[in-house]
Formats: sequence, C-alpha cells, structure tokens
Amino acid sequence: MTAPVVRTTCPYCGVGCGVLVRRKADGAYDVAGDPEHPANKGRLCSKGSALAETLSLDSRMLHPMIADRLVSWTQAINHVADRFKSTIAEHGADAVAFYVSGQLLTEDYYVANKLMKGFIGSANIDTNSRLCMASSVAGHKRAFGADTVPGNYDDLELADLVVLVGSNLAWCHPVLFQRIVAAQQARGTQIVVIDPRRTATAETADLHLALAPGSDVALFNGLLRHLDAAGAIDPAYVTAYTSGLDAALDAARADDPATVERRTGIEASKLLAFYELFTKHQRVVTVYSQGVNQSTAGTDKVNAIINCHLATGRIGKPGMGPFSITGQPNAMGGREVGGLANMLAAHMDLNRPDHARIVQRFWKAPTIATRPGYKAVDLFRAVGEGRIKALWIMATNPVDSLPEADSVSRALQACPFVVVSDVERHTDTTAYADVLLPSLAWGEKDGTVTNSERSISRQRAFMPVPGQAMPDWWQMAEVAKRMGFAKGFGFKQPAEIFAEHAALSATDNAGTRDFDIGAHAGITAARYDTLTPFQWPQPDGHAVGTARMFSDGRYFTADQRARFVPTVWREAASAISDAYPLVLNTGRIRDQWHTMTRTSKTARLMGHIAEPFVEMNPADAARAHVQATEIAVVRSAHGSILVRVQTTERQRLGSVFVPIHWTDQLSSSARVDVLVTGNTDPLSGQPELKFTPVTVEPFQAAWYGFAIGVRPPNRVGLEYWALAKARSGFRLECAGRTQQSDWAEFARRVLGIEAAADMLAYRDATTGQHRFAVFENECLIAALYVANRPAVVSRGWLADQLGQRFPGPHDRMRLLAGRAGDGVPDKGAIVCSCFDIGATQIATAVTGGGCVDVAGIGAALGAGTNCGSCRSEIGRIVEHTRRATVE
Ligand code: SF4
Repeated sequence: MTAPVVRTTCPYCGVGCGVLVRRKADGAYDVAGDPEHPANKGRLCSKGSALAETLSLDSRMLHPMIADRLVSWTQAINHVADRFKSTIAEHGADAVAFYVSGQLLTEDYYVANKLMKGFIGSANIDTNSRLCMASSVAGHKRAFGADTVPGNYDDLELADLVVLVGSNLAWCHPVLFQRIVAAQQARGTQIVVIDPRRTATAETADLHLALAPGSDVALFNGLLRHLDAAGAIDPAYVTAYTSGLDAALDAARADDPATVERRTGIEASKLLAFYELFTKHQRVVTVYSQGVNQSTAGTDKVNAIINCHLATGRIGKPGMGPFSITGQPNAMGGREVGGLANMLAAHMDLNRPDHARIVQRFWKAPTIATRPGYKAVDLFRAVGEGRIKALWIMATNPVDSLPEADSVSRALQACPFVVVSDVERHTDTTAYADVLLPSLAWGEKDGTVTNSERSISRQRAFMPVPGQAMPDWWQMAEVAKRMGFAKGFGFKQPAEIFAEHAALSATDNAGTRDFDIGAHAGITAARYDTLTPFQWPQPDGHAVGTARMFSDGRYFTADQRARFVPTVWREAASAISDAYPLVLNTGRIRDQWHTMTRTSKTARLMGHIAEPFVEMNPADAARAHVQATEIAVVRSAHGSILVRVQTTERQRLGSVFVPIHWTDQLSSSARVDVLVTGNTDPLSGQPELKFTPVTVEPFQAAWYGFAIGVRPPNRVGLEYWALAKARSGFRLECAGRTQQSDWAEFARRVLGIEAAADMLAYRDATTGQHRFAVFENECLIAALYVANRPAVVSRGWLADQLGQRFPGPHDRMRLLAGRAGDGVPDKGAIVCSCFDIGATQIATAVTGGGCVDVAGIGAALGAGTNCGSCRSEIGRIVEHTRRATVE
C-alpha cells in the first residue's frame, strides 16, 4: 500500500513553496514540490529539495529544563508563569517581553500577541521579522494606509520589466527567480538588477546597476524626476487616486542628474538606460527585499520606489506594482496578527483607540496595550539596561542575528529571567536560558503561514511528536492559564486559534481594513485540515481570496487616496574612515538558512560553501595585504571576526560581503552581527545590516589545516576553525598563528584518537606539510592535512572517503596525497546541490564531454535544471574551463 502524501509548505523563505511529503518503506521521507501550490507549481530549490535530510533528532531539545535540570511540563510552566507574574507585580507589565520569530506559525504568533497585548497589557512583543521587512511595513502604511502587498507572483510573469532592488533573488528566493527567468526566456521579460554586488541574480540581468551602498533613494528620486520630464506620469491616475505628487517631485528635483550620478556611483548612460526602460514599459514590477529594508533609510527607500509606481499608475494591475519579498516563511503571518511591537492584531493600529476597543472587546481582555513596545534592537538594549527583567525568546537566535551581537549576549547574561523555546538544544542563545522549552519542528507542527503574495497555506504535521516537545502556542496558552487568564486561552487545537484570528479580522471591518479573512471565521477542524492556499483578503461571503489589491484605486487612508511620500537621500548612519575604510554588507548564501540550525544538518547543503568568508574586490584585498584563501580578521568599532578571504571582481570596490549564517556552534569566531552597529531606521526600527564600516587585516597564520573525521574533530585550543557536516562524518578547516612542536600529538588531539591508533604520517619539512590518516579495521576514520599555506587538497573527495576501506599502502598513500588520482572520480566542490554535481565534474564535461554552455551541462549532468540557482556558477566554470582549454 502506498503511504499517504501530506501537503505542507517549505519552512525556509518567504516564497512559501508547497511541499509534498511521503513516508517511504524504510521510514525515511520523500520530499517533492507540490504541483498544485500556486507559489511554486511543483518546483523546489536546493534547500527545499534537501528538507528530508534535516529531520533527524540529533541535537534536538526534547524535554523542558530549568537550570539544566530536566523537569516536567507542569514544573516548567508554573515556573515561567510565576516569574512573569512576580516580575509584573513588582515592576509593571513593561518589565517583561517576548521576542518571537518569522519561523513561528500564525497560530503561535496569534497566541503570543494576544497574551502580551491583551492580557499582560504591554506591547513588548517584537519579532526577528523586524530585521527583515519592517521598513516595507512602514513604507506600505505611509503610502497605502495599510501594510498591503499589492500584487502577486503571477505579476512577475506578466511583467515586461522586472526590477530587482537589493535582492539576490537567485540565491535567497530561488523558485521565484526561476519563474522570472522562465518568463525572460519565454517572452523576453527584461530584468534590471540594482545591487552593489554582481550577484548570481545580477549575472542573469539585462542591466546591472552596481549602486553605491545606501544610495537607492537618490536612484529612485532620479527616476521620478525622469518620469516627470519624459511625460510618463499618468495624470488621470494621480488625480483620481493619489495625493502629494508635487511635494514628492519637489523632493526628487533636489538632486540634479549629476548629483544622482555622484551619489549612486553609476555612470549617467547606465542610469539613463534604466530610466528609459522603466519609462518605456507599462508592465513593470519592482521587487525589493533586505537590500532596501535593512537600512536607516529603509522606509524612505520603500516609498521612493512606491512613488514611481503611483506616479505611473502602475499598481493594482496585471504585471505591475511594487513588490516586497519577505525573507522568512511567516513574516507576513506575524504582521497579520500584530507580532510587531507597534501593531495590534489583524493589521489594526496601536495608536487608534477605535482599533484598541475592537480588539479588547473581541478578546474580552482585561486590558489592551495602547502604546508601542520596544522594537527588536531597543528591546535588547532595554534588557541590557535592566528595564526588561523577564524575557521569553521563541524560535530565534538573537545572540547571532541582532546587531552588536555581543551586547545581546551580555544583556541576556544580565537578564534576571530568560526563557527560550526552541527545537535545538544548543544554540548560541539557549546558552543563556534559565528555562528551556522544547518546541515542535517542521514536520511535527500544524498551522498556517502566509507567503510574500498574501497567500495563506497550511503547514501540516507528518512526523510523530518526539520526546516531550509541544507546540509554541500550547506553551504560551498554558503559561497564560497559570497566570490567571484561563478564559482567553482554552485552545485545544490550532484550528480554533485560526478560527478566532479570522473572526477578529472581520470584526467591525466592512472593508475599512485590508486584512479580512472573515470567510474562514469559525472554521471547523475538518475544514482547516483540508484548507487550500488562498490570498487574503477573503471577507465573509467571498468564495475565493483576492489576487490583486488596489485594482479599484481605493486605498486604506482616511480619504482612500494613496500618498506620495517626499523622500530625500541621506547618508548611512555610520561613515567609513581611515580606521574603517570598507563598507560591510551582510546577507545570505544559496544553500544556508539563518543560523544554520537546520541546513547544517545536511552534507549536501554544506558542500556548496562549507566555511564563513569575506568576499572582497582584489584591489581592496591587495590594499589590506590579504590574499584569496587566507584567513583574515574583519574588524569594526564593535568587534572582530575570522573568516576566509574570497576575492572577486563581482564585489564592488570599497565594499565587502560576509554571510549571516555562521555561529559559535560551527565556527571559532564568525558571528558577523558582532560587527554591525545597532543603527536603526527612525520609522521602522529596522537595523542597518547592509552598511557597517570595517577594516580587513591579515590573520598572520603560521599554518593552515584541513581535517576530516567520522566524529567531530576537537576544536579546543584552535585559533581559527569552521566545522561542517560531511556525508559520513565531519570536515574541519583550521589555522593558527604559532607552529606546533609535535604535529603528530597535535593530530591525535584534533582528531580525537589514542596514541595506539593505526595512524599513517607524512612530513615534508621544506614546505611545512604534515599529513596524517587514521584507520580502524582498515577503514578511514580521520585525517589531517597541515601546511604553511592553505592546504591544497580535494576536500569533497577526501570527505567522501570517510568510512571507506584502504587496505593497501598504495591507496593509503593516495589518501595522504589528498587527491583522487588519475581515473578516480572526484566531484570537486559542490556547485549544484540539487543533483550533487561538483565543479570538477562540470569542467570535465566541458573538456571531455564537449559541453559548451549551461544548457549543455544541464543536458549532460542535470546540473542547474532544478532550482537553477547554480546556473550562473556553472556558467562561470564553463567559461573559465573553455578559456583555459583554448589558452
Ligand atoms: Fe523553500 Fe526554496 Fe521555495 Fe524558498 S524557494 S520556499 S527555500 S523551496
């Protein structure tokens, strides 16, 4: 009998792809894209495709704990409730806070918000989505009167021009990117990428504008001015449906074209090319994400973009509109229930007494928050300054992800009471918890999420609940009951929470508020189980949701007109200096997600980039006296990190890039937010994660090492290290400033082996090379390669040899050489994670297989034919190999 297929959604990015999961006969799970889900229509990216490899219970937190002691749920809940109650009694409601996450399901978020704002009576609940899209929320509200995403994913395929601003969509939202690329190939959609870096996305673009970091407002003000001069403003639309154009134009005219050129660092001809493309095409969608939002001018950037769409009337129509793409799977759901410290539930406003009355009455709540709570960065400052004395962190890792991250650690250390609900036992944040509460992971929990196009989908459980893990909503409801709020929190299942959330959205609404899912008020558990994706709003009586907003030109402001917002370019809050001459930009890489608690479990995803790095222009690297593959110190006014140097012309001169993912769990010192200043946008509170002045210095390594082991190598005492999962064990990069007196002893310590172990050694004193391979029953269990320069060995091939038999001296010597040798397959570094294809295989397909382009590689190896986010990388390898062959 075939196992039933469970329809759920991917837990990673804001595309919100539908996923089909089936349990196989061997107990493992099969994951595939859901062809019926409107977001992905069957596609999955490398991360989504590898979901089945992330389901192990290794490292899971499975029992409640108080001060590292296992306790019962009753003990844990009573303890949390008592401490929150006593803190409130002694210091007031604003002395407690929740810090939640876009990883939570809407039902979890709803209960958290209800408890804090309606029953505790404080608005001190904020979310890590503050770091991702708060500027879009603020920009939407200024322009539309509500936090409304106007369009949908189909618009990206209907557009003639797609402008991607501050968004490496190819790596961060790969399935959406593939939909755009398919439209580019099928109907000639033009793509413009606006990004300081020449990213994988930019390499597919018809035009790439490598603007100076933070100059987006100048660029779009220049566009508004150009649209006006070119007669491209739609006077009928502006007159009928908007207000404030003149003031916005006055602000835009403050910068003449030469000033725009100077501010953006983009030559006039390229600026004009973009402006003319935008002017010429009626069907334009402007997609933006963290590159726009994560700025002290983030809200202005959003409004500068929206201004251009309002001026041309290109909004609310097929193939047109500004489009904010969220980073997290349920950032939108959090916005809908009021998961931000400055919002009430159901998109209602904290500062509107009529809204506060609606919510309080509906909840039958004893109180209601009427003034904003602390936004994320300020919230942790308040913790550090002792104003918040009890904090509950759910499904997020602020010790790694917030700016001035070491201050966050210190704040948690000093906080009298910290609760952490998580699925992982050991994160950089759980280390500071007084109480640990085990939550359900993806595959175990039930609820809903909302993706970037306002589509609400179910996440469904398909695995048994492990240990004593419980849903986050249940944990909060139990604490609420123990705090004396039993009446508001009697939920038995997520369907009841969703039904209440839907009913609240419709209460006293009648079309005055954008978020209305009244059609689902009172939904039964059976209907909830079979709920199919729908786009909000879907008011009572509507059989389907709403694909596109503002089609009638009516907005949610008092006069129903959209607002132009005058925007003025201003510098980033921090400035480069002689001490810190480079601008640090942070972001994601293709195969990792957030702080890697899930994606680091799969060797396939770790095979793409296994180590933290700083990407810099070769000229900047030369000035900093660092070389590619060496370790460098990246330092800011707040701290320093150690990362591997990558040099590339794709990186803008004067800017460097470091990924956000590495934590103290997987690296010696690569938490990039340690460097970032906590400057925030004055309206949205979103921190400026894309502009930190830094300097790069040599690490002065005396030796570099690469180790593999069936068990994790020992990192104690290593100055630099980065650990990654391999297929049959682990791989470790390491380096140090001082030579070892006894390398064999060092190898035994790092590899964790006894003196009597079967260890083969090789030494070349002239090059400083020391190589060791350790066997057990003739099988390789560990190896270490050390040299004065970064070890030149075939890392992927070596990692794949763990557990293999090496009975003879010839094979063992080949291992010590660190290379596969002639005639032995060696993939090289993984390029296509979906099909596990490496760089060496691609190069061989060019030299020996006659492949001449990306399509040829796809036909021969399959690489690049699934999610496609490796296509630009494949293209570079093909080009490089062909050039090398000709030379
Ligand atoms: Fe998941 Fe990838 Fe789809 Fe994002 S694009 S939801 S990470 S499968």
